[in-house]
Amino acid sequence: MLVERMRAFGTTIFAEMSALAAATGAINLGQGFPDTDGPTTMLDIAADGLRSGLNQYPPGTGRPELRQAIASHQRSHYGLSYDPDGEVLVTVGATEAVSASILALTEPGDEVVVLEPYYDSYAAAITLAGAARVPVSLRPTTPGGRFTFDPDEFRAAVTRRTRAVLINSPHNPTGTVLTRDELEVIATVCVEHDLVAISDEVYEHLLYDGGAHVPIATLPGMRDRTVSISSAGKSFSVTGWKIGWICAAPPLIRAVNTVKQFLTYTHSAPMQLAVAYALDNEMEWVDALCASLAGRRDRLASGLESVGLSVTHPQGTYFIQADVRAIGLTDGEAFARSLPHDAGVVGIPTAVFCDNDEVGRPFVRFAFCKRDEVLDEAVNRLMGSRTSS
Ligand code: PMP
Ligand code: GLN
Repeated sequence: MLVERMRAFGTTIFAEMSALAAATGAINLGQGFPDTDGPTTMLDIAADGLRSGLNQYPPGTGRPELRQAIASHQRSHYGLSYDPDGEVLVTVGATEAVSASILALTEPGDEVVVLEPYYDSYAAAITLAGAARVPVSLRPTTPGGRFTFDPDEFRAAVTRRTRAVLINSPHNPTGTVLTRDELEVIATVCVEHDLVAISDEVYEHLLYDGGAHVPIATLPGMRDRTVSISSAGKSFSVTGWKIGWICAAPPLIRAVNTVKQFLTYTHSAPMQLAVAYALDNEMEWVDALCASLAGRRDRLASGLESVGLSVTHPQGTYFIQADVRAIGLTDGEAFARSLPHDAGVVGIPTAVFCDNDEVGRPFVRFAFCKRDEVLDEAVNRLMGSRTSS
């Protein structure tokens, strides 16, 4: 039944591995969602909204309070100025923002340059649009080192058919935060070849060790050719709310909204109001979350190292990459698929986010956005299975 171009996709790895966690009773360090709630007042505002009749369609572009809060957030954090009435669009999570952008801005046969490993919905969105993805690989510079790309490879990926580049920083699944120099390489290519940058910044506030997020829209020549995407899910620990947004120049917003209005039109009025409140008032809560996540990153990293895995120390996101070559294996996917049964722990094989098999093969992604006791139990289980094997 399924259309031919979507047949390669099957079930998402997150659904598959979460189902495996449930079936085996394994600890789920696969799907990236926190196991604690967001700020209480934000939750109360959503609940009050539900009880006070805020239950009909909000405007198609999003509630004005939320568009205003998003515009203020971009100004106060990054010095980027967007008109809340013509340059901001509320979407069903970053997922819809990415899909609607690709569907609106690429023709069948166009190429989209994407950093690999890439978040799985990117590949599906590009395929849905009838476009083609052209991956540029992120690789660790040294064993256990930061994943980065080769600027020459990036430049060489652009052809006559390239329409857009789709980037993500902080980057899922590697934890890399692109530096200003790296972003400048990308920006220069976009300007030279007149490309649109679609920039997924959902982890914009989850940076560690004093790192700073640089939106590519702040680079010279980029503001009017960038679709900046973010979402409340990660910043405020409400991944189930799916309140996302886009900031972009009017021609880009109008194009994306033309598609978005027929995908979903609009959604979740009470949550939109609650996220508007959170963006205006809960950034200290986000800072505390970030400090706590940095501690949990270190806790899981040293736990994984204690069982013999070699790990990256991510500069941002929820995710650590573990290299199975350190325990004498080569195939991270086989390791990840056997782990729920052998050790009672779930991780995500990085290879599923790659076209180039060699890039992701030795790696498994573990999420550290879980309570300390959950991380400790996962490490205990891994330790137990290593000593018994
Ligand atoms: N982009 C990236 C890089 C992600 O990790 C995720 C998962 N949260 C998304 C997009 C999807 O975000 P949302 O849940 O807001 O749709
Ligand atoms: N973004 C989440 C992750 O990377 C998963 C979201 C999903 O289940 N599609 O783990």
